[in-house]
Amino acid sequence: MGVMACRRTTGLGAAMVSDGARLAALRELEILDTEPEGELDRFTALAAELLEVPISLVSLVDLDRQFFKSAHGLPEPLASVRETPLDRSLCQQVVIRGAPLLIDDTREHPLGIGNPAVQELSVLAYAGVPLTIADGHAIGAFCAIDTTARQWTERDMRILTDLASAVETILELRRSTRSGWTHDPLTGLPNRGFTFAWADQLARSRADRDVLAVAVGIDGLRAINETHGAGHGDRVVALVARRLRHALTAADFLGRVDGDVFVALHPPSAERPADAALAQRLRRAVDAQPLTIRGERTAVRVSVGLAAGAADGDGARLVTRAIEELRVTKARRGPGLGGVASSATGSAERARLAVAVAGATTRGEIGVAFQPIVDLVTGRTHGFEALARWRHDDLGEVAPTDFVPVAEDNGEIVRIGEHVLHSACRQLARWRRCSDHELKVTVNISPVQLGICDIDRRVSSILDEHGLPGHALTLEITEGVFLSPGAAERGSLERIRRLGVQIALDDFGTGYSALGYLNRLPVDAIKVDRCFVEGVDSDERNAAVMRAILAIGSGMDLDVIAEGVETHAQSELLRGAGCRLGQGFLFSHPRPAEEIALAG
Ligand code: C2E
Ligand code: MG
Ligand code: MG
Repeated sequence: MGVMACRRTTGLGAAMVSDGARLAALRELEILDTEPEGELDRFTALAAELLEVPISLVSLVDLDRQFFKSAHGLPEPLASVRETPLDRSLCQQVVIRGAPLLIDDTREHPLGIGNPAVQELSVLAYAGVPLTIADGHAIGAFCAIDTTARQWTERDMRILTDLASAVETILELRRSTRSGWTHDPLTGLPNRGFTFAWADQLARSRADRDVLAVAVGIDGLRAINETHGAGHGDRVVALVARRLRHALTAADFLGRVDGDVFVALHPPSAERPADAALAQRLRRAVDAQPLTIRGERTAVRVSVGLAAGAADGDGARLVTRAIEELRVTKARRGPGLGGVASSATGSAERARLAVAVAGATTRGEIGVAFQPIVDLVTGRTHGFEALARWRHDDLGEVAPTDFVPVAEDNGEIVRIGEHVLHSACRQLARWRRCSDHELKVTVNISPVQLGICDIDRRVSSILDEHGLPGHALTLEITEGVFLSPGAAERGSLERIRRLGVQIALDDFGTGYSALGYLNRLPVDAIKVDRCFVEGVDSDERNAAVMRAILAIGSGMDLDVIAEGVETHAQSELLRGAGCRLGQGFLFSHPRPAEEIALAG
């Protein structure tokens, strides 16, 4: 931080601050002398609010100056100052140390005594943590400044560290893409730059273990575009993306690196899946069932290329190798050949899915299962998520991940969604009559439903019918809704919220993308995707992201619900980190209402 003077840098410090690799990493961000950005200002504002300090800064320490990429609360006449000389900087000290610097009272601290700017500004307390990116270079500091002396607490430090790590994540993403735009708008998946950068990060995170990269190419996309039009081709790409995503575990990364090429990255872990099995799983996810696009069935196949390794830390090269492998496989198979031969019966059966799901609701085939959302501190049930279940006479029980996309395609999802909403509200009203505490229910809403103009009136009349207040209901939507929200969807959401109904962002954090957008979204709660919860007790990065999400959640007054809690260790760690609500097999699988016994 630069508004305070401090001692001149020591010889050792000066050497470290002018470290060439560190400065190169800073320059590579292309962030010096750029305008303030809402995405980062949000974090300094949050730090000020959560730590109850007047000033917070993102200060980048250059060779001879420090540049404030974000400055919250600098008093006049400094409010418009964007940089200060380095020798007046406490943030420089943070960079030199590569560790947090805490000053409870500058009047008693060597860095504060005799420092005229400290006295001039009545700066009495300072807490700064390094911002570290790219191979561990500290490029600056994230700091909080108080005008009264205070004893910084462990909680203060946790908040500051978590927010700093969120800022680091944003800077790191920027480094990987330069433009700051990290996602492919068609599929919502991380784009090429992000994928390569992520591969590098994975490869660096565990040098002793292999990363597995799988390149998946859509066969004959060009022919599909030419025959059916580019709109049809886009839909194919989007549906293939969705199927691949569902075929992977939540810990796996999936990005779109080219028009017809996706790359999946399996993180370095002890349980590496058999390469062939993973390739087969991804192929089958696409091949086994034709895609239904506006009622038309299109058989699509994919080819796969694999590469494992990257113990040398070069993840990008690994991705390139997988893509080369894919090209070789495609060339070997030639047009019209190969693929996992999907059995005729398998395909036919899958094709029936689209036909069978039409009318499933009116035939009474859609049921609802409830999974408790549990207060991790008291162990009490906070509410339930309602999940659609479909049992078909011939097809048997079909998973929502299979039928929801098909039902979205042919519009059946509107009837399914309304049925689930009705059933959930009816059941909640029953539970509320026989329980002391104010249970809530959450229902998943498809973007297709949000596009309907009177969705808010439907929601309102269902609530009335069952005598429920708006705040008893939460609707879950996915991040995808916000990728390119139409006016209709946004309008619907706003009108629904006016009923007192809350909106939760489902599967939050896949790809770490939405942290910076949160403040712009009309949401009341976030459900953190189970891929973070899965590794929260073993993977420091997941734990750090989880803590950052929690800090942001508490700062923005959002409920944070951890999805997919499967073990006591995860539950304990989440609770310790301040996560209040959790959901997962540890507490209960989704069950029919009649199998659920309420305590109290
Ligand atoms: P979701 O909304 O994220 O729901 C949570 C999913 O995670 C559920 O899968 C649930 O069974 C599963 N799950 C819960 N705890 C655990 C755990 O500890 N470990 C693991 N591995 N999984 C856990 P389900 O019921 O198969 O639903 C899948 C998805 O289908 C839902 O994901 C949601 O996106 C969609 N879906 C379900 N019902 C509806 C609905 O009525 N309408 C719409 N539009 N989508 C629905
Ligand atoms: Mg959900
Ligand atoms: Mg979810």
